[in-house]
Order: sequence, then structure tokens, then C-alpha cells
Amino acid sequence: MVSTRADIRTIAEQVVRDRRHLHMHPELGFQEHQTSRFIADRLRALGIDTRAPIAETGVMGILRGRAPGKTVLLRADIDALPIDEENDVPYRSTVPGVMHACGHDGHTAILLSAAEILASRRDALRGAIVFAFQPCEERPPGGAQAMIAQGVMDDPKVDAVFGLHLSQELPVGTVAARPGPIMAAADMFRLEIAGRGGHAARPHECVDTALVAAQVMVALHAVVAREVNPLEPAVITVGQIQAGTAPNVIPDSALLRGTVRTFDPDLRQVLARRVEEVATSVATAMRATCRCTYEWGYPAVINEETQTAFVANIARQAVGETQVVTRDQSMGGEDFAYFLQRAPGCFFNVGTRNDSRGLVWGHHHPRFDIDEAALPVGVEMFVRLTEAYLARD
Ligand SMILES: [Zn+2]
Ligand SMILES: [Zn+2]
Repeated sequence: MVSTRADIRTIAEQVVRDRRHLHMHPELGFQEHQTSRFIADRLRALGIDTRAPIAETGVMGILRGRAPGKTVLLRADIDALPIDEENDVPYRSTVPGVMHACGHDGHTAILLSAAEILASRRDALRGAIVFAFQPCEERPPGGAQAMIAQGVMDDPKVDAVFGLHLSQELPVGTVAARPGPIMAAADMFRLEIAGRGGHAARPHECVDTALVAAQVMVALHAVVAREVNPLEPAVITVGQIQAGTAPNVIPDSALLRGTVRTFDPDLRQVLARRVEEVATSVATAMRATCRCTYEWGYPAVINEETQTAFVANIARQAVGETQVVTRDQSMGGEDFAYFLQRAPGCFFNVGTRNDSRGLVWGHHHPRFDIDEAALPVGVEMFVRLTEAYLARD
């Protein structure tokens, strides 16, 4: 068998070329029509069983080895963000207002090259590999649930799931795999406060919703501070507050919108209940009413211990002991969580940051860009872990 390193070297230019092509032609969630075609054409050319579209604009590929065995699912998300790119590079986005500012162009390119190498070695493989190119990660309800609902994990039945995210928090050349909860459940709420508007000089005839909104906001911030164990991560943020149209008018209504982030599933339920209780009770106490709409977002991303240790071990082979680093937990959300709810697995990170080249801007920033030397690292991780997983009894 050709060595993984040699194969990685042969696809090193291609993975960069693919990433740049995708970067120049970004598409928003569930609108990834060109991206989806690009992926499906490539998989078919490799002789991989391809189902497209799945979940609107997703693509599923199945590669079967020479003999029956286990099934591994590898996932890449393919969507871009509504951001106007500010980088002046030859592969700059050609679509105004749309940009691959999270690295999903890289994820897609990595998985395509991994598919190519694995397909070239299919005669040496047992079991099957499912390639899940998932649409719309950035906006809940997201594409992961839709792909799962349409059977991406059912036939063949998936035994383990692996995904990666490029990371500007980590230096290029490094890989991080952390067990347990690594990304938060990310829910949203909307509070519509209704009172009675009127003249600013006659407050006694009104129910001032601006003041109610202010009290609700303060009370909500006390929930995490006073009701949650300080050792347990939780965030309540009110990011949007709207009330009033003029300085001398008491507003009739107010709107608050915010997000709740948690790792623990029980705490998630408690905070959802408390947001509603606190907001409606404070409003009632102040003679107003409050209608709470709670939108459940992605659950927490929880890496299974054994599979995470396995990935960390693969990482040591791929990049060397000293380049396997730890990562912090993040309160960000990610719908790979749904795959991990159905099968054990690991969502790991591949570092892309390069200070000396000025590649330091974070994800979702208009100047986000990665050190592309990370791309072959991602390919090598996927190829090695898939072959090692399928070779086990
Ligand atoms: Zn993102
Ligand atoms: Zn992302």
C-alpha cells in the first residue's frame, strides 16, 4: 500500500485549489446548489455511491470496502456566512455579502481529498465510509438534523462519527481533541412586553414597557449569577432590546431577544423555564404582560471518551506528540452535536492560525483567513482515523 504521507503529498495542491475555488464561490445555508454539484460530481468521478441532493442541498457518499465491517461517518459542513469579505487575496469571495468566514470551504475541500485517497485504497478496506457533506450549519435548525432524518446514518448503519473544525484559536500544525462537552447548547428567546403607552409627563397613566424591559434584563442576569453553580458553565445574554420611538413618549411595547448557552442538558431545561418565569413575573409585578417564545437551538457537542482518545492517538501519529494540544470548551454552538447524539465519535480541531503571516482574524470576521498548510493535516487525520477504525475488530 502507498504510504499515507505520499498520498497526502500528491493531493496537497488539489486540496488548496479546491478550498480556493469554494472560497471564491460561497453560498448561504440551504442555497449551496453549485457547491453541492461540485461535490457530487467529484464523488461520482471517484466511483463513490452518491446521493444528492439530500436535505435540500446536502450530498451523501458511500464507499464500500472489499469486505463487510463497521461503518464510519465523516462530516463536512458546506455553507458560508452573510459577511462581505475584506481580504485582498486572489481567491477573495466573488459574491458580494457572502463569505466563507468560518472555514467550511476548508472542511469541504479536506473531505473531498480524504474521499479521493480512501477511494483509491478501497480494495484494502473493510466496512463502509459515509461522507456527509452537510448544508447549513450556521443557522438553526441547520442541516444535520435534516440529513439524519433522511437516513444518512441508517443504511449502512453508522457505528462512529467524526468531524473536524479548522480553528483560528490554535496554531497551524496542531490538532486538538477534547473529551466530554466541548461546545454549548445554544438556544434563543424572544420576550414581547406589552404595557400602556402615553405622554412622558404622565407616567401614572401608563405602564412603561421601557422600564419593564430594563427590570427584566437585570433580573435575567441575576439567574446565572445567583442560581447556577459557579463551576458549571452557563450564559444568558440579551443581545437585542427595542422600545420606544421618541424621548417624550412612553412606549406601548418592548422587545428583548437573547440567547442561553449551557453544557448540561438538565441545566438547559432549568434555564429555559427560568427565563420565562422571571420575565413574565417581573412584567406582571410591574402591571405589564410578557409573552416568551423559546427557540431550542443545537444541543451541546459531547465527545465520547473512547473515540476521543482514539482520535488523539491518531493525531500523535499524524502531527507528532508535541503538536497535539488541548483546547478550551467554547460556548459556541455546532450541529455536529446531532450526529454525536446518534453514535459515539469525536469532533476535533485542526489549527490554522499563523501570527507571522498575519492570519490571526477569528471565525466570522470579514478578514478571516486560514493558513492552508492545515488542509493536508485535516486530510491526513480523516484518512488515518478511518483506516485505523475500520481495521479494528
Ligand atoms: Zn461559524
Ligand atoms: Zn463553523
